[in-house]
Amino acid sequence: MIIIVRKDTGEAQLSELLGWIEQQGLHSQTARGELATVVSVIGDSSSLDVDRIRCLPFVQSVKRITEPFLLAGRGKHPQDTVVSVSGVLVGGGHFALIAGPCAVESEEQLLAAARCVKASGASILRGGAFKPRTSPYDFQGLGIEGLRILSAVKKETGLPVVSEIVDPSTLPFYEDVDLIQVGARNGQNYELLKELARCGKPILLKRSPASTLREYLMAAEYLLAGGNGNVILCERGVRGFDTETRAVLDVSALPVLHELSHLPVIADPSHAAGQARYVGPLSLAAVAAGADGLMVEVHCDPPSALCDAAQALTPESFDRLSARVRRLREALHD
Ligand code: PEP
Ligand code: MN
Repeated sequence: MIIIVRKDTGEAQLSELLGWIEQQGLHSQTARGELATVVSVIGDSSSLDVDRIRCLPFVQSVKRITEPFLLAGRGKHPQDTVVSVSGVLVGGGHFALIAGPCAVESEEQLLAAARCVKASGASILRGGAFKPRTSPYDFQGLGIEGLRILSAVKKETGLPVVSEIVDPSTLPFYEDVDLIQVGARNGQNYELLKELARCGKPILLKRSPASTLREYLMAAEYLLAGGNGNVILCERGVRGFDTETRAVLDVSALPVLHELSHLPVIADPSHAAGQARYVGPLSLAAVAAGADGLMVEVHCDPPSALCDAAQALTPESFDRLSARVRRLREALHD
């Protein structure tokens, strides 16, 4: 950490600051320049509250030189993390295609979708049981019954399943869920993240639509700091000003997150696109930008879907997309 102290600062004030730094178990080096005095803090200053220094009247600015996301960052963990979702590997060169309906509507609906996406190459089945909807009048999901259906379809098809959690009190019902999703709305729900850090299951952490990448990595840090290193990041679109799509898929987030973090990063083109016809191009863009996987919404009869009907791919279009993704990945690895 570097502290820039105003040049007219008296010796007494400066030594008070240096003394405080020592009290924190750290050391410092001071260089008096013509325009300012530079104090370099030596040691692990990650738990130092920068604001307590910044608020001192003689301090001009404070700059951290190490990233605050100590565990999610590459600093201490340069190699890619590979997360195993009940045997399906994600990250470090392993690509996972996750697909299925937005919401679990019935056992027949989920099973039909699961069989199709599996035949097209998906290795993990998605399906929301608890649906966080913008309107309280919209379908809210089947809840615990939805989780029971996911479990039955998993047994039938052999596909591991991912489903969103919205309330930590429902965690006991996720025993048979292989990958627990934290949705965009809860991406900064730190109490939920603290609880999930202790659950012993891999977590798919979506980016909040208004989180910077650094805020997003700090959310992941809650899971890692609490003891859960099995975290998959997911870019799902951020808030933009255009209304043609639902969100703006931040393709830049993929290489940036890969550079800053060792965690696998996948993309969800469906919630960014909001319209089925844009899902294919966005998927290919995400793969080209280095995504470790895709999560795509697929429904056997999109017009009848109870949630996110407009963005659901039919099994046929998902099959074509899956083949194109495969070809693109092969081309990229040549
Ligand atoms: C979902 O994946 O079902 C979902 C609700 O997505 P998001 O949280 O990204 O809006
Ligand atoms: Mn959806």
